[in-house]
Amino acid sequence: MEKLLNELSCDGHSAFSLPENDMPDAMTSSIPSHLTRQHPPALPQVSEMELLRHFTRLSYKNHSLAKNLYPLGSCTMKYNPVVNEKICRMAGLSRLHPYQPENTIQGALEILYELEHSLCEIAGMDAFTLQPAAGAHGEFAGMLIARNYFKSKNQQRTKIIVPDSAHGTNPSSATLAGFSVVPLPSEKDGSIDIEKLKIALTPDVACIMLTVPNTLGVFEKQILTIAQIAHDNGTLLYYDGANLNALIGTARPGDFGFDIIHINLHKTFSTPHGGGGPGSGPVGVKAFLAPFLPVPSITKKGKSFALAFKGRRTIGRLRSFYGNFPVLVRAYAYIVALGGKGLTRVSHHAVLNANYLLSVLKDVLPAPAGTRCMHEFVLSGKPLAQYGVRTLDVAKRLLDKGYYAPTIYFPLIVEEAIMIEPTETETKKTMDEFVAVFRAILAEAATDPSTLTTSPHTTPVSRLNEVEAARKPILHF
Ligand SMILES: *Cc1c(COP(=O)(O)O)cnc(C)c1O
Repeated sequence: MEKLLNELSCDGHSAFSLPENDMPDAMTSSIPSHLTRQHPPALPQVSEMELLRHFTRLSYKNHSLAKNLYPLGSCTMKYNPVVNEKICRMAGLSRLHPYQPENTIQGALEILYELEHSLCEIAGMDAFTLQPAAGAHGEFAGMLIARNYFKSKNQQRTKIIVPDSAHGTNPSSATLAGFSVVPLPSEKDGSIDIEKLKIALTPDVACIMLTVPNTLGVFEKQILTIAQIAHDNGTLLYYDGANLNALIGTARPGDFGFDIIHINLHKTFSTPHGGGGPGSGPVGVKAFLAPFLPVPSITKKGKSFALAFKGRRTIGRLRSFYGNFPVLVRAYAYIVALGGKGLTRVSHHAVLNANYLLSVLKDVLPAPAGTRCMHEFVLSGKPLAQYGVRTLDVAKRLLDKGYYAPTIYFPLIVEEAIMIEPTETETKKTMDEFVAVFRAILAEAATDPSTLTTSPHTTPVSRLNEVEAARKPILHF
C-alpha cells in the first residue's frame, strides 16, 4: 500500500531550494499582525526524489490507454493524440479569461465557431451549441429544446419513448426535463420492433431517443422507416451520439432524419475520459429547432466573432461561460488534423477492429446480437455458470493480466453481458494478445474456477464489496 505524503514526511526534507527573498515583504507588512499565521502550515516535508517516486508509483496503479488495451464497451476509450494536449495548453488558449473583452478573444471564438460548423458537417445538422459539459447534460439540453419547441406550438406532449437497450442517462434526462418515459422493449439484437413502436407512439409523444448503432453494436436497419413514422406523428427524433466512432465520416445522423443529437467529445474527439471529466456534450439540431438552442451563441459578422446572449425562444443558459474550452480545442485540433478522409478512416478502422475481435471471440462465448457488429459487440458469459463462474469474475481476472475490464452487465437485455470495444488505433497484434489472454481465462474457468472467483490477485486491493463501498465510503484513514 502506498503511504500518504504526510506519512512519508520527515522534518527538514524539502523538494525545492530557492534563494532567500531580499525584497521587503509588502504583503505581510500590510496585513494586521493578528490576521497573519503564527506557525507555518503542517505541510508534508519530502525530498524531490521522494515526491517524484511517490507520484510515479501511484501512476503505475492507474490503468489507461497509455498502458494497455482498454476494451470498455459503450464508452469509446480512444487513443487521444498527445499533440492535442500541447495545443490546448498553448498560452494564447489556456491563459484566456472568460471575462476578457470580445475583441481580445477573436481567435478563441473563431475556433468555437469553426468547431460548431465542423460538427454540423460531421453530423448532418444545421446548428450546434458547444455548451453542455457532458453527454447527459447534452441530453438534458436536447429534452429542454423539445419541451420548448412543443410549448411554442401549443402542443401538449408529455412522453418520451426510450428503448430498453438505451444508456441509463436517456430516461434520466427525459425525466429531469419533466417528461414521462415510455420504455420500448427491443428485439434480441437491440433493434426496434416497428409494430411495438407504432403502438407506443401516441399523439402525446414528444420525442423518441435512439442510439444508432444501438448499445449491442448493431446498426438500426429500419431507421428511415422509424424516422418517417415518428415525423408523421409530429414526434421529434433524438440521436444519442455519445459514441460516434462507428459513423464518423461515413454516415450522418442528420441524413437518417434525426432532429436533435448530442456528441460526446470526450469519447470520440480527443479528450481522455473516465475519472470524472471534464467532458463536453455538444448538441446539434435541424434549422427549425435552432432558435431554441441555449445562449450565448457565437455569431460572425464580416471577419469578427461575437457572443450573442439574446434569443426569443432560447432555452436560456445551461452553465457558466461557454463550455469546457480545452475539450473544445482538442476536438477542433483532432478534426482539422485528420480532415474528412482521416475521420472516415477512423470509423472504418473502428468497425474493422470490433468485427475482427468478434469474429474470434464468438467461438469462445455466445454473441446473442449476431456475428457482425459496428464499433462494439456484446458476448454472454452465461455458459460459464456450469463452473460457478460469472461474467464479473472474468472481468476481474482481466485486471490481473494487465487489461482494463470490459463493460459488464450492460446492456441489461443480455444475460451476463460482456461488452467489448477495441479502440480503432489498436493493432492486430495487440488484439491477438488480448484474445490469447481471454481464451486462457475461459480455460481457467473450467480447470481452476476459484482463481477466477477470488480475483483480482495482483491489484492493490482484491475483490471489493462494491455495494458497501458506495453506501458507506471511508474517505479518510
Ligand atoms: C457515455 C454515454 C452517455 C452519457 O455521457 P456522459 O458524458 O457520461 O454524461 C450517454 N449515452 C451513451 C450511449 C453513452 O455511451
